[in-house]
Amino acid sequence: MTAIPINGNAIAERIRARVARDVALLKTQRDITPGLAVVLVGNDPASSVYVKTKARQAQAVGLKSQQFLLPVHVGETELLTLIEELNSDDSVDGILVQLPLPGHIDSWRVLEAIDPSKDVDGFHPYNVGRLAAGRPALVPCTPLGVVHLINTVVSDLKGLDVVVIGRSNIVGKPLAVLLGDAGCTVTGAQLQTRNLPDLCRNADIVVSAAGYAGLVRGDWLKPGAIVIDVGINRAIDSTGAPKLVGDVAFAEAIKRAGYITPVPGGVGPMTVAYLLANTLNAAVSRRGLQLSIDHERDQVQSSCHRAQDRAADLQAAT
Ligand code: NAD
Repeated sequence: MTAIPINGNAIAERIRARVARDVALLKTQRDITPGLAVVLVGNDPASSVYVKTKARQAQAVGLKSQQFLLPVHVGETELLTLIEELNSDDSVDGILVQLPLPGHIDSWRVLEAIDPSKDVDGFHPYNVGRLAAGRPALVPCTPLGVVHLINTVVSDLKGLDVVVIGRSNIVGKPLAVLLGDAGCTVTGAQLQTRNLPDLCRNADIVVSAAGYAGLVRGDWLKPGAIVIDVGINRAIDSTGAPKLVGDVAFAEAIKRAGYITPVPGGVGPMTVAYLLANTLNAAVSRRGLQLSIDHERDQVQSSCHRAQDRAADLQAAT
């Protein structure tokens, strides 16, 4: 068996096209241009690339995109003042603070200062709690992207066994909630987990978000399993050039899985696409509006839907 690659670039492109169409509708119908503010502290090269990509794609779909580039030694108070200003600015619908922040800044203090209705990363405890309780919430972008990718190859997730490797606030924990709401039996694995290979061998779906290159081996997989690789790890290719690899030993896994996401070109583009969708949805939701299009048939995913509804919506989107 050779697995079918899941093309995250192509799927993300379709999401961006829907966001662009809905942003244009919002402009025509209500004269509103949703705004995304991205805050970067310092000049970490990887973070700078992520921020530029987010800003470029936001502009490309018609969002008003602003970047706030602060020096690495900026004080926490100064950063909190900026967040307050963005909270009060009605032209800003989404606020994203690029993580990690430098050590002298309390990241939680900053994340908790963001207005939850503008928290397009879905990291504020208000949104985390509402997601866990099955209430409307802004949901983290990577888990939304992962569920969407899975739904492109299997429409009904009910009863499927899933192993999610990693339990960070950004990926593993919210993803486990979304998949549980979709009817999966979710095993959350982490560094301390025993018998990880055996757990994976029994899983219909394996999602790895560990940040450990080559962790998931081919012989850990049930034949035909769906494998979603969230990991992004820096490695060196055979010519000595730098390259990015995932957590999954791709060459082995592709011989055994049914479907597999590549790195790069799998989950990564979905994360940015859902940031744009979250910004649009925040703009709509904050104003108590609905776009006059059929969201059931042909929609951008509303990250403000009930969490239980989300998986069903995602199926309809593909
Ligand atoms: P994190 O370091 O916060 O969490 C990692 C989790 O994986 C922890 O729960 C840890 O216990 C677990 N883990 C680590 N090594 C393990 C092992 N050997 N066996 C079992 N569990 C193990 O990381 P994070 O922020 O969730 O990111 C995880 C990976 O996903 C990183 O490579 C990151 O770069 C990548 N990532 C990618 C995207 C994307 O858009 N593609 C988005 C977010 C994170």
